[in-house]
Amino acid sequence: MTTSASLPAESAPEASVGGSVTDRLVQANQRYAAKFSDPGMDARPVLQVAVVACMDARLDLHAALGLELGDCHTIRNAGGVVTDDTIRSLTISQRALGTRTVILIHHTGCGLERLTEDFRHELEDEVGQRPAWAVEAFRDVDQDVRQSMQRVRTNPFLPFKDDVRGFVFDVHTGLLREIDPSS
Ligand SMILES: [Zn+2]
Repeated sequence: MTTSASLPAESAPEASVGGSVTDRLVQANQRYAAKFSDPGMDARPVLQVAVVACMDARLDLHAALGLELGDCHTIRNAGGVVTDDTIRSLTISQRALGTRTVILIHHTGCGLERLTEDFRHELEDEVGQRPAWAVEAFRDVDQDVRQSMQRVRTNPFLPFKDDVRGFVFDVHTGLLREIDPSS
């Protein structure tokens, strides 16, 4: 089986030195908690902003946007796609937790650019079941950001749609490039 839906080979042996990677993260958490002091915030983001972004490991949203703890909601998935579940989170974010601004961030070199909807068919061939979700693969990242902005701006569940902006993050320079929704 060599389809793109197949599992990649085992990799990153260094991650297993001294326990599993999860063990390492749990140990890091103990160090974090030892220095942690409760800022006493409630659940509403201080900046009243929700950021929808790709899950890409090279995109450190807090560092890239100068965000502090408590500032924003971050909603992430493969591609930063505005799916029904993204809308679910944004609806709760706006209606129950006070956010007013939406920022969409896609990026250069996204894994979704190398996939097609064939991924779903290959999955179906392999496991005998077609997933209910679309892969949301794309070729043109700018157009993909425009489509995401459009999905937010036309969604009936979201009451705050005037301040919706979309960007492409360059993984090599760390810079955001804003996408004009109308071009
Ligand atoms: Zn990505």
